[in-house]
Amino acid sequence: MACIFCRIIKGATNICSSQPSAKLTQVPGEIPSLKLFESDKTFAFLDINPLSYGHALVIPKHHGMKLTDIPDDQLNEILPVAKKIAAASGTENYNILQNNGRLAHQEVDHVHFHFIPKPNEKEGLG
Ligand code: 5GP
Ligand code: ZN
Repeated sequence: MACIFCRIIKGATNICSSQPSAKLTQVPGEIPSLKLFESDKTFAFLDINPLSYGHALVIPKHHGMKLTDIPDDQLNEILPVAKKIAAASGTENYNILQNNGRLAHQEVDHVHFHFIPKPNEKEGLG
């Protein structure tokens, strides 16, 4: 499996889990991430190279490069999950961004929605 985000979904580990069965070992082909949310069709995790503190990515589990490649029913949790992240983190100022195609600065070919907090200047980030 070449897609880096499909490998992140496959490697999902709940690092906060108190369950003894929680995976603690790295399996070849899987990529670890800091998971924020997971359901049968949606996954959210922290961006590895954040533009600001709390920069997250919300993705459909269904693989597709562009928005038009994803069935509607696989997209209907995306914004509700972004809302949950905003509410749970107490983030009041943020951008939601989704790039399609190289000219639009898409680097990872699996549809993803950026959740980018915009901290106020006193906090010194962003
Ligand atoms: P794009 O430019 O395609 O819209 O954004 C891709 C995003 O994916 C970038 O913000 C980048 O930092 C993030 N990213 C790329 N590889 C990884 C990875 O292996 N793990 C995580 N957590 N984020 C990644
Ligand atoms: Zn993928």
